Amino acid sequence: MHFDQRPEDRDGFRFRGGCNAIDLPATLQARLTPSPRELLNTSGDLARWLVSAGMASSAPKTTGEDLTTARVLREAIYVLAGRRGESEAAAARKSLNRIAAGAAAVPRLQADGTMRLEGTAGALLVTLAREAVHLFGGDAAKLIRQCQSPTCTLYFLDISRRGDRRWCSMAACGNNAKVNEFRRRSRQIDTP
Ligand SMILES: [Zn+2]
Repeated sequence: MHFDQRPEDRDGFRFRGGCNAIDLPATLQARLTPSPRELLNTSGDLARWLVSAGMASSAPKTTGEDLTTARVLREAIYVLAGRRGESEAAAARKSLNRIAAGAAAVPRLQADGTMRLEGTAGALLVTLAREAVHLFGGDAAKLIRQCQSPTCTLYFLDISRRGDRRWCSMAACGNNAKVNEFRRRSRQIDTP
């Protein structure tokens, strides 16, 4: 089930994975190239990401330390999602658990029936880290897949009924693959 009707790309950030924890690694783009593109350059960028993620209704108070924490959390999630070797995974688990042990944002039920998180960016990152702990430590961990585009490193939760989702985004990587396949086939037809 997927009730999220928001666009998958919001305010320059990608939210294609199905939960915020799995979407955080997408803030470092072009990871496999010699010059990856950092989307979290300033504490203001982090505040914007938290709003785009729906974790805050307006820009939360964000420090340079929060920015460092966000990047550490991001890389820990990236490593754990990729089920890397044990020494790398052990360091990632340690970082994740350290961040998750902090004081989390307070969830509050609103009069309109929605939930709002109250807290600084630091507290929201603790909430996010806990979401990641539940993700990796729970049944949903089995649903984590990496986009099959050779140039894309994004992870997502495959909640498709048949469990055969291949792309982080049908509109982006899925469509590119379709176009490439079409070109490949047309070339074969052209070649005598
Ligand atoms: Zn992709």
